[in-house]
Parts: sequence; C-alpha cells; structure tokens
Amino acid sequence: MPELTYRLPPTFTSVAEERRHRKERLAAAFRLFAKFGFEEGVAGHITARDPELADHFWVNPFAMSFAHVRVSDLILVSDTGEVVEGTHPVNAAAFAIHSQIHAARPDVIAAAHSHSVHGKALSALGQLLEPITQDACAFYRDHGLFDDYTGVVVEAEEGKRIAHALADHKAVILRNHGLLTVGESVDSAAWWFITMERSCQAQLLAKAAGRVVHIEPEQAALTHSQVGHDFVGWLSFQPLYDRIVREQPDLLD
Ligand SMILES: [Zn+2]
Repeated sequence: MPELTYRLPPTFTSVAEERRHRKERLAAAFRLFAKFGFEEGVAGHITARDPELADHFWVNPFAMSFAHVRVSDLILVSDTGEVVEGTHPVNAAAFAIHSQIHAARPDVIAAAHSHSVHGKALSALGQLLEPITQDACAFYRDHGLFDDYTGVVVEAEEGKRIAHALADHKAVILRNHGLLTVGESVDSAAWWFITMERSCQAQLLAKAAGRVVHIEPEQAALTHSQVGHDFVGWLSFQPLYDRIVREQPDLLD
C-alpha cells in the first residue's frame, strides 16, 4: 500500500518566513473574494496579524480592487492606525473594526469582512444562520449578531462592541451591513467567510421556496464538532489557494 500524505498547516523556522506566508495567503484571499464577487466599491477588508508585532496587522490598501492585490501591495498598520509599511492608506473602518477584534481575541490571526450580497441580505433580516444544511452547522451556536446599526464604523468604540458581539465565536452577522469571520489562520478566516456567504444564500433560497426542515439540535451540535473546527476551515481553503495561485501567479509578486 502506498503511504498517503495529508495536508497539514505549515511550520516555520523564522518570523520572516511566517510573515511572508501570511501575506501570500492574504493576497490570495483577496483574489478569491474578487472571484466570488464579494467586492462592493471600496468596502471590505481582510486582516492578518503580524507574527512578530502582535498588535499590528497586514491589510489591503484602501480603494484598490481585491482583484489586483499583490503581496507587495499589502500594508502594515500599527495599533494606533498608522501605516508603518507600504505606501497606501488604510480604510478607516478596517482599522476601527479589525484592531478591536485582534485586541479582544488573541487566538485570532485573521479577520475577514465584506459586503457580499447574500450576507448583507440575511443581515437585513436581523436573523442568525439556522442549522438547515450540513455546511451551515459549521456556524451552529458559533456566530453572533451585532444588532445595532449606527452608520459606517469609524470609531474604535464601535469596533469594541462588534468584538463583544463576536464573543468567542468564529463569525458575527452585522445587522444591515454584512458578515465578519475570524480564524486561527488567514486560510480559515477566508474559508469561513466564503462558506458563510454561501450558507446565507442557501438559507434565503430555501426559505423563499418553502418550509425548511431543521437539523435537530443534537445532530446540529454533532455536525458542528465535525465541520466547525478551525483545521477544517484551513483545509477547505487549500484547494482554492492552489487554484487561484495557478490562475493568477502575479498575486505572489
Ligand atoms: Zn463594512
């Protein structure tokens, strides 16, 4: 019998190597978000905590298309909102929201937010994702609702309240706004966003079509334990990463 090789998260021998890896995953996540149609003008941001300066994060430049982001375009933002590496400005909302989430959740390496259509449609109902499909169970009792829309987020205080609504979950639905997901890697944060958006779409479709059958709480909890792990999120991102790098190798520039 041949020996099978399974994909596992990488380990690193230097901070520089780990930083480069996170930035490559981040640039790839933007290209994938563009491909999935998650872009809405200048809205949306994915952040990756720096492996050395733990209160700094890497993020997309303000007003650059997700479809164009390369590793060399990413900017490093300090805990006070200053761009300390790169020549582009940072989106004020990206700093207000993500700085508070990275501060509140030391386990979170990356956070993703955009105004994807089905996420914002479900958010307008002020409802949570329901356990109506196997995939949606990744979020069963594992996402919050930020039930308090007060305009574009520019104050750190509001970012704090979003972090509070996220609590120890992997995602939060921002009412009248959209989705936000987090992960222990860029890979998992991006994957949770992609699959959450699709689960929002499935819920809206199913409920528009008729009366949905819910998965029983016990089975939903079991399924969450099977498909809701951060490792599953990481693993699910790998085929997408391979695909986007093969299609758009310039993202690594
Ligand atoms: Zn937003």
